[in-house]
Amino acid sequence: MRMLTHSGIFSENEENMYSLTPVSSILVQNKSLDLSGFLLAMLHPFVVNPFQSMSAWFKSDGEPSPFSVEYGCGVWEMTERNFNFNTVFNEGMASDSNFLTNVLLEECGHVFEGLKSLVDVGGGTGSTAMAIAEAFPTVSCSVLELPQVVSTIKEKGCVEFIAGDMFDYIPPADAVLLKWILHDWNDEECVSILKRCKEAIISREDGGGKVIIIDVVMGSNKCYEKSNTSQIYMDMLMMVMCNGAERGEQEWEKIFIDSGFKDYKITPTLGLRSVIEVYP
Ligand code: SAH
Repeated sequence: MRMLTHSGIFSENEENMYSLTPVSSILVQNKSLDLSGFLLAMLHPFVVNPFQSMSAWFKSDGEPSPFSVEYGCGVWEMTERNFNFNTVFNEGMASDSNFLTNVLLEECGHVFEGLKSLVDVGGGTGSTAMAIAEAFPTVSCSVLELPQVVSTIKEKGCVEFIAGDMFDYIPPADAVLLKWILHDWNDEECVSILKRCKEAIISREDGGGKVIIIDVVMGSNKCYEKSNTSQIYMDMLMMVMCNGAERGEQEWEKIFIDSGFKDYKITPTLGLRSVIEVYP
């Protein structure tokens, strides 16, 4: 308890009574703002153990990531092979999405205004798409996901789920949403994904759709030290799990230009993450 109080998980008063702090109150299960699933996913042995393989990865002959050194496959092959990891990971992402969409719709709702259709690529079990569909009933929402995720969906709401591979094909829509996707991939892979997105949205000549990215823009929240630290931890985590990376504005801009986009707008409002609207 001393250690947990020292690190801000609990507070203690003069009568040695402990109470929740803002940090621990969002880890209480079944409350509307509940990030416990995300924490459980990030503390899963498959996520934590690969940190021990960093040295072997540095010395390896082109192994993709410490994760692949540790397990002989990538993260998405692992979600396909291991039911427990697939479940814990998807629940973790859904808990983050439930948490974030409250803020997203309140502070950045304008991003979705006027859209008729949206496809959430790698949209997990659909929490974000369902929240958008509920807040904007005129937007028809779908989720493109890997078969091992789509096969677990029980509650579809009014969202359509499509099993597929974003590197092959993204169904047409006014907007493509990529929440916490591109930081899983290297620059060349991001360009491939964004090219598929560009094919899916309306061209500039015909009025122009957009890609909505929710991801870290490194250094976007300089005035809040804890956000900066979290961004750096996330960067490490992405390197270890999938040789991905968090990116600064200049790195993002290069990827957008290389994929044929003309313009973008960053709104840094979501704590450590930002909304980036990218236009053809
Ligand atoms: N967007 C969700 C999930 C992010 S995790 C959220 O923010 O909560 C990344 C997601 O990408 C995983 O759900 C994974 O299954 C999906 N994914 C990975 N490779 C993919 C591919 N080739 N095509 C479609 N989805 C993919």
